[in-house]
Amino acid sequence: MLMQIQENISLRPYNTFGMDAKARYFAAFSSADELLGLNDRISVTGNLPVMILGGGSNILLTKDQEGWVLKNEIRGVQLLHEDPDHIYVRAGAGESWHGLVMYCIERNWAGIENLALIPGCVGAAPMQNIGAYGVELKDVFHSLEALDTKKRSVVTFTLSDCAFGYRDSFFKHSEPGRYVILSVTLKLSKHPVFHVSYGAIKEELEKAGVKAYSIKAIADAVIRIRSSKLPDPAVTGNAGSFFKNPSIPATQFEVLKTAYPEVSGYPAADGTVKVAAGWLIEHSGPDENISWKGYRVGDAGVHPRQALVLVNYGKANGEAIAALASAIQSSVFLKYNIKLEKEVNFY
Ligand code: FAD
Ligand code: NAP
Repeated sequence: MLMQIQENISLRPYNTFGMDAKARYFAAFSSADELLGLNDRISVTGNLPVMILGGGSNILLTKDQEGWVLKNEIRGVQLLHEDPDHIYVRAGAGESWHGLVMYCIERNWAGIENLALIPGCVGAAPMQNIGAYGVELKDVFHSLEALDTKKRSVVTFTLSDCAFGYRDSFFKHSEPGRYVILSVTLKLSKHPVFHVSYGAIKEELEKAGVKAYSIKAIADAVIRIRSSKLPDPAVTGNAGSFFKNPSIPATQFEVLKTAYPEVSGYPAADGTVKVAAGWLIEHSGPDENISWKGYRVGDAGVHPRQALVLVNYGKANGEAIAALASAIQSSVFLKYNIKLEKEVNFY
């Protein structure tokens, strides 16, 4: 089938930051064969960069894209197999992640209820091992299929192949654009284990008068908390948490805690302590008397309710957001000697 290739189009509808950057070439694909067909066309245009796009909710477009932007629209959800305890479900990479969560909850397949309302597509979920409220993709991940565009073959990645870490995976470090994730298979449970101790979930369930926990009740609570705390990208451009929560040595955390007793830290199994980046940002600023939280320069800003989220109030471009991010990183480093690492992917 001949796929439609558009030239010099605005990517504004395709990224949740609402950046008005252009793509030199843009096309969508809905199967591995279509992607291979596009690869042939791409080779004709020479050595131009290729960017794979899902829902565009974890990217910052800092400039016009001189190469190809390929939107993954591979659909379909299939129950592959079940045993007395588990369900193995495969979803096309272009399916909505939240749609998949709701689909599984309706069938009482447990494991991803805490990951409700995360924007974007299934195919991007392994990229940074998406996580929220104490659950990460890796906890329910079985395998994925990806097209190795260099070898032109479909490869299966198991849990260990993916090298999942905190907002990290093998794919974040592989050659950009080489592996295009086609589908993801999850191993869900028929016997839910409720994770309610994280953040405000328990409190929210109590507020709603929920006495008997269910995966639906947990997802509903997560949806309510997220809707009240996070800016809706349809209204205010953003890409969720802009930085990762830094992990620091326990000894450094002790020094920090002595100086700032109110700082929260979460000890990890490897002996480091995870510090809430939102707190560090809120308690630093462009100068000593101003906090970054709620700060705004032109249309680029830091969200007033969640300092970890940078926002585009309308006409900010990627460079303005990147400059603000870099100023935040410098001031946090200067004050706390902690390096904030970006979570959002820059293009
Ligand atoms: P995109 O932004 O389109 O792409 C992200 C990266 O993955 C890019 O590098 C892209 O090239 C690559 N990619 C995308 N699809 C493929 C594919 N099929 N094959 C290979 N590479 C691919 N994240 C969390 O982890 N937890 C949260 O709780 C969370 N909350 C958020 C809340 C808000 C309001 C927003 C805006 C974002 C949030 N995010 C969160 C970030 C984001 O939603 C997730 O990282 C999501 O998985 C990104 O999906 P996407 O389809 O939009 O990816
Ligand atoms: P929160 O509940 O206010 O907590 C602040 C930070 O403390 C979180 O970042 C979380 O780290 C950490 N934390 C809280 N309780 C913890 C515990 N029991 N054990 C270990 N760490 C704990 O956070 P929030 O901003 O409202 O977000 C709620 C959840 O949604 C978090 O898991 C967050 O990661 C996720 N979220 C992610 C994005 C994104 O774009 N990545 C955007 C919005 C929300 P973790 O972040 O490591 O969980």
